[in-house]
Amino acid sequence: MRLDKFVCKSTELTKIEAIQHIHFGEVSVNGDVTTDEMTQVHENNTIMLNGVRLKTRDFRYILMHKPAETICSNLDEAYPSLFNYLVVDKVSELHIAGRLDADTTGLVLITDDGRWSFNITSPTRQCCKVYRVGLSRALTIEQAESVTVRFKNGVQLQGEEGLTRPAKMEVISSKEVLLTITEGKFHQVKRMFSAVGNRVVLLHREQIGEVRLDVEVGQWRYLTEGEVLSFA
Ligand code: URA
Repeated sequence: MRLDKFVCKSTELTKIEAIQHIHFGEVSVNGDVTTDEMTQVHENNTIMLNGVRLKTRDFRYILMHKPAETICSNLDEAYPSLFNYLVVDKVSELHIAGRLDADTTGLVLITDDGRWSFNITSPTRQCCKVYRVGLSRALTIEQAESVTVRFKNGVQLQGEEGLTRPAKMEVISSKEVLLTITEGKFHQVKRMFSAVGNRVVLLHREQIGEVRLDVEVGQWRYLTEGEVLSFA
């Protein structure tokens, strides 16, 4: 990461303050003073500020129950940002590992550890996400069987090159299913049901990997160590 980012992450300094300290020659990397805030550094480097070794603060891993009509962005736009519900320091350093649409509710994982969130969002890692889906059209038993098979084999989404990865559909009732997918294309669940002639009217994420949603709407908690490591 950049030197100024490292200094910010390991102190209470703002970015501007960190850059000032670097420009004043108060920061050294592996024994050499550097005045370039863009110098790339690694957490294993010995980075000192005025002779005191800096260590990055621990990363943060948070689970939140996203309410409807909030957006997974750091800024309020058409709807208020989900981050308004999160009362922690340096919220601007956090990002969401797998965004949900404004009208989707449920589990979001929030962190400042980019490598960790990559493990959740990268299609190559095939991390499972479980959605409870409400449908506009009731499925007959035959239709439910056919859609289950189509999702298992993969469907073609408009504008995408290949088929979707195998997904598992479990029927709860004629208008409600659980869908498990291992990728996260834009509006994926809605587009999958559109590809089979139905429409999603309610969408709620219940689970990511082994982590299940267990807090009330609008509430959050830190992940346990075990939960964090389950995505390592
Ligand atoms: N799929 C969607 O269509 N929307 C979401 O918010 C999440 C998955």
